[in-house]
Amino acid sequence: MTARCSNPNIMKLESFWTDTAAPFEGCRDALPAKADVVVVGGGFTGLSAARTMARKGASVVVLEARAVAAEGSGRNGGHVNNGLAVDYPQLAERVGKEQAAAWYRAYDAAVDTVERVIGDEAIDCNFERRGKLKLASRPDHYEVLARNFDQLKREADPHVELVAPGRIRDEVGTDRFFGGLLYRKSGQMHMGRFGRGLAEAATRHGARIHDFTAVERLERVRGSTYRLHTAKGTVEASQVLLATGATRYGNWSSFLFWRRRIVPIGSFIIVTEPLGQEFAESVLKQRRTYTTTSTLHNYFRLTPDHRLVWGGRARFALSNPRSDARSGAILKRQLDEIFPQLAGTPIAYCWGGEVDMTWDRLPHAGEKDGLFYSMGYSGHGTQMSVHMGECMARVMAGDAAANPWRNNRWQAIPGHFGPPWFLPAVGIYYRLKDKLA
Ligand SMILES: Cc1cc2nc3c(=O)[nH]c(=O)nc-3n(C[C@H](O)[C@H](O)[C@H](O)COP(=O)(O)OP(=O)(O)OC[C@H]3O[C@@H](n4cnc5c(N)ncnc54)[C@H](O)[C@@H]3O)c2cc1C
Repeated sequence: MTARCSNPNIMKLESFWTDTAAPFEGCRDALPAKADVVVVGGGFTGLSAARTMARKGASVVVLEARAVAAEGSGRNGGHVNNGLAVDYPQLAERVGKEQAAAWYRAYDAAVDTVERVIGDEAIDCNFERRGKLKLASRPDHYEVLARNFDQLKREADPHVELVAPGRIRDEVGTDRFFGGLLYRKSGQMHMGRFGRGLAEAATRHGARIHDFTAVERLERVRGSTYRLHTAKGTVEASQVLLATGATRYGNWSSFLFWRRRIVPIGSFIIVTEPLGQEFAESVLKQRRTYTTTSTLHNYFRLTPDHRLVWGGRARFALSNPRSDARSGAILKRQLDEIFPQLAGTPIAYCWGGEVDMTWDRLPHAGEKDGLFYSMGYSGHGTQMSVHMGECMARVMAGDAAANPWRNNRWQAIPGHFGPPWFLPAVGIYYRLKDKLA
């Protein structure tokens, strides 16, 4: 049912992507007693892994606590960007330029994977490669982008391009930005249609997707064989993939290793009513995906029906309808400040979601106590989740080298055992950093 907002300036408190795609109906049969593989989590990671393994003939069961592809995978900004979520030169300094370049290129491969899956499965989801423009929020941020550009072009991506401050008006209808860095390989798509298409493809290849079936407890039988307990019964599987993102269902101790390493952080989005093509393209001329360089950055793009999708970490809070509406009001003020021509435009949708943040803002994937996992995309995972679903299917078939993140050591976050009590303090720190930088 559509959630309506008490704020008269916002129409619906739900994701534009899931509201404008037909929902996927999960399998209504009883759970089987056994399967070759159980995938916990029916977002892009889980669905992509299930599709890949089912195509190879494995019996695959997906257990999803809620609706399919409706958490991170259905509540994001709609960007399918290449490039890392972290600063490339800093990463190269920390892990060496070969490793940093390999991880950078893993995102190129991930965007290619999304495009290939869409083609192979004929998913109608408006996928387009129009590039991502990272916009300098301050003049000195442009100098940093220019330095990054030199190193990136030399070591990892010959296709990046610098947009000088004098050219910024060819890109965006505002004077609030001071140049930018263009990542040519980035794309965008309709996340709801992609999620549904991916779930249908996995089902066609033989996977059984049980929605509204949370795994409450994991019981190790032997080696990598586990019995998974749900309110609808148990399933035993020779292999289990945890693809649970930021969401937190089930028994605490079964998931403790991952919960100590993932911090769920709210991110929020508003979507305008359709602007009309001409007006929309006077605001975002090249219809790219856009991010800004401030620490509490914004991310935005247009939809095929010419709405503006505007996201950001408006508040350091978790997502729920009340929290989303409060964040939506902050996002609308930010939008009006940067694009004053949109001040009178009504907001049609507002929602929030939780990002699976890790300490290094890089994904983590591997095997722990016989359980396979891939998560921690840190707000940059629409492409990597689909790619990692395929990579983990190969890892689970014995090809450990298929995991691009296998060398990324994963440390627990000190003091983090449960709800992220430290978020308000982190929020104050970042707001100050933005003001003083
Ligand atoms: C607001 C927001 C904006 C974002 N914007 C972008 C963007 O523009 N570009 C980008 O690249 N990335 C973006 N991201 C990140 C991206 O959406 C995610 O990285 C990606 O979708 C993760 O997919 P996933 O399958 O790993 O996780 P999810 O899609 O979160 O799926 C995990 C699933 O596991 C289920 N689950 C959890 N526990 C259990 C359990 N015990 N039993 C059964 N099921 C369980 C959950 O219900 C959930 O459906 C954004 C994220 C958010 C929240």
